[in-house]
Amino acid sequence: MIIAIDGPAGAGKSTVAKLIARRLGYLYLDTGAMYRALTLKVLEKGIAINDAKAIAALALDSSIDLINKPDGTLTVTLDGVDVSLAIRKPNITKSVSDVAKIKDVREVMLKLQRKLGGRGNVVLDGRDIGTVVFPKAEKKFYLDADLRERTNRRHKELNGLGQEITLNAVELDLSNRDKIDTNREFAPLKKAEDAVYIDTTFLSIEGVVEKLLVFING
Ligand code: C5P
Repeated sequence: MIIAIDGPAGAGKSTVAKLIARRLGYLYLDTGAMYRALTLKVLEKGIAINDAKAIAALALDSSIDLINKPDGTLTVTLDGVDVSLAIRKPNITKSVSDVAKIKDVREVMLKLQRKLGGRGNVVLDGRDIGTVVFPKAEKKFYLDADLRERTNRRHKELNGLGQEITLNAVELDLSNRDKIDTNREFAPLKKAEDAVYIDTTFLSIEGVVEKLLVFING
């Protein structure tokens, strides 16, 4: 079964997706991590963020993989190198939506995500999983939350990673990415018509997981 979880950054998608995958013994695929890995390479190569042609060529010439570890964590590799931590850095976060809006980049990722998703029972989180990548996914969810709550969550998460960043900076990043992700021409962030909408603002992680499991098992 394919379970698609979409929504804006900080809505709890990846935490929830990881827990659901663990409970069900499914693979977990963080599709945002793939765009982040490519963005890391773009920045390392010094390619201009608006050079769509060069970035698309780079996407074709990159090997990105997601490896589920037995302890429930996910390792992201770029050309065979573990970049799981590097892709969470602020400079990547700042540029990733501009990379992800490039049509040819999305084409490459789409193919890769379908290939990885074809590995069997899988939970994927992203922005366009239920609408574009797996429109026939058996279960689709759209997780949302107030910008303020998403900001607080992301701020806490980044602090946990040792990143010192102000609440204002986090809020600005989230709203900027929301804007680019929602308004882009190709595969914009939007709820699939048949996705279950869940506002997680006042819910605990466990509460969200339980809610999803009811729909999954139902
Ligand atoms: O999920 P995460 O916040 O790590 O995603 C980083 C960025 O990757 C998003 O802001 C979005 O621009 C892009 N993305 C996307 N489509 C997906 C997953 C992520 O465009 N399926």
